[in-house]
Amino acid sequence: MAEHQVVVAGAGPTGLTLAGELALGGVDVAVIERRTDRDLVGSRAGGMTPRTIEVLDQRGIADRFLAEGILGQNGHYAGLFFDVSDLATRHNYGLALLQYRVETVLADWITELGVPIHYGREVTGFTQDEAGVDAAMSDGSALRGDYLVGCDGGRSVVRKQAGIDFPGWEPSISCLVADVHMTREPPWGLHRRGGFHSFFAFDGEDTVRVMVAEPYVGIAAEPTLADLRAALVAVCGTDYGIRSATWISRFTDATRQAATYRTGRVLLAGDAAHIHFPIGGQGLNTGIQDAVNLGWKLAQVVRGLSGEELLDSYHAERHPVGARVLHNTMAQTALNGPGERTDALRDTVAELLALHETRTRIAAMMCGLDIHYNLGDGHPLLGRRIPDLDLQTPSGPTRLFTFLHQARGVLLKFGGLPWDFDITPWSDRVSMFDVYYNGTWQLPVFGNVAAPTAVLVRPDGYVAWVAEGSTAGLSNALDTWFT
Ligand SMILES: Cc1cc2nc3c(=O)[nH]c(=O)nc-3n(C[C@H](O)[C@H](O)[C@H](O)COP(=O)(O)OP(=O)(O)OC[C@H]3O[C@@H](n4cnc5c(N)ncnc54)[C@H](O)[C@@H]3O)c2cc1C
Repeated sequence: MAEHQVVVAGAGPTGLTLAGELALGGVDVAVIERRTDRDLVGSRAGGMTPRTIEVLDQRGIADRFLAEGILGQNGHYAGLFFDVSDLATRHNYGLALLQYRVETVLADWITELGVPIHYGREVTGFTQDEAGVDAAMSDGSALRGDYLVGCDGGRSVVRKQAGIDFPGWEPSISCLVADVHMTREPPWGLHRRGGFHSFFAFDGEDTVRVMVAEPYVGIAAEPTLADLRAALVAVCGTDYGIRSATWISRFTDATRQAATYRTGRVLLAGDAAHIHFPIGGQGLNTGIQDAVNLGWKLAQVVRGLSGEELLDSYHAERHPVGARVLHNTMAQTALNGPGERTDALRDTVAELLALHETRTRIAAMMCGLDIHYNLGDGHPLLGRRIPDLDLQTPSGPTRLFTFLHQARGVLLKFGGLPWDFDITPWSDRVSMFDVYYNGTWQLPVFGNVAAPTAVLVRPDGYVAWVAEGSTAGLSNALDTWFT
């Protein structure tokens, strides 16, 4: 039986990112993908939000995505657009880039890192024992890993086989989605009058992405072009001369989250762990960020550098983030509903979103920039993302994220602190640098914070320890995260 340290089921955005993170962490990982090649049918996700661009920037690969897409103020809450240009991030914009192009860039990256992607193989089940997991394939073969991660989407076989509950809310609405050719130009953007519908064109594509809400009537047959035409005529009074479709599908606002993200040697990430209405564009983003949270932890555990309890922090940190995404998509779905009472509520929310404080709060939530893991009390940086500061170092200027490219822990000394601390016991996992920074420390929503004299940054870019006048607590933080 072929063996790898980690087997990842699914080469969607989550599985590909996780495999890259594991490879950077020195792990032998293989990805199993049911599709026979990279081709992804249908446009699906339309882009990335700032925190996702940041986590890719932490690995030095954000430019690859930025070069392929279009930057703009395209973030929205229930179709109410907001501007993020004044949020404290280098990437204060959204990136419009279709999911298949995101996947192509990620697949190229992990191929460079030497990760095999086995297309045309499907995980059909698994058994786990104390030492590992045997994943069974549809072709009768099996693959053994120390760990198996289900990144196999909303209908995850891994989640079902693991017996992990998927509680949540039944669908209340259904939506047709299609990539079509149209004879007449539709009214671009998101609309609610007559029923939720939208028309978007993506750079480099000759199709229009159409979405039309329809009443939810239970499990329906595969949608056809005739269904789409009828739905558009019902809502808009015309089908804008649809000629053909390259993809038609249907999704609902079924909202569910895995009760646990781990059982023994089996973990879940991305849509396998959480599903929700795609409004506001958070699914792909949340999945990529799940992967960046899990990757370095799993790498350390697999390599015997950390105990299995480190993996418990994956669920503890990412389950609440996923729950919050589910919550806000349910609120957005309600705000998109029909009726004059909802119109009145939307007007009120629109007024609130025009105010600086409410806009920045909602925008930071939608962009993943306000994530705050519970790493204890203390300096506001603790548990929050480290900003990508322009630093001076003894060898010249550099951006802070450069230190995170190898997915290692980073201890940054900003000078001024009497330093009698020996990092040697952790030096194979954590690098220490002397850096200088005289600017302000600003966090999205939170505002300015006191400049720290030293910080310990985890490989995922979240701050695990902040010096407050001494090295007290540093040894504990290093033990917690790096042993
Ligand atoms: C219309 C629409 C618009 C969207 N817009 C956005 C957006 O703008 N922004 C955003 O962030 N998100 C958006 N989303 C959500 C986004 O598409 C998903 O959240 C994202 O694809 C999740 O990535 P994933 O890798 O977790 O899962 P998936 O993309 O579902 O990938 C799972 C992979 O696993 C493979 N697989 C499944 N079962 C097996 C198996 N048993 N063995 C091996 N392989 C298997 C599948 O073939 C697939 O490649 C949208 C979704 C839809 C439907």
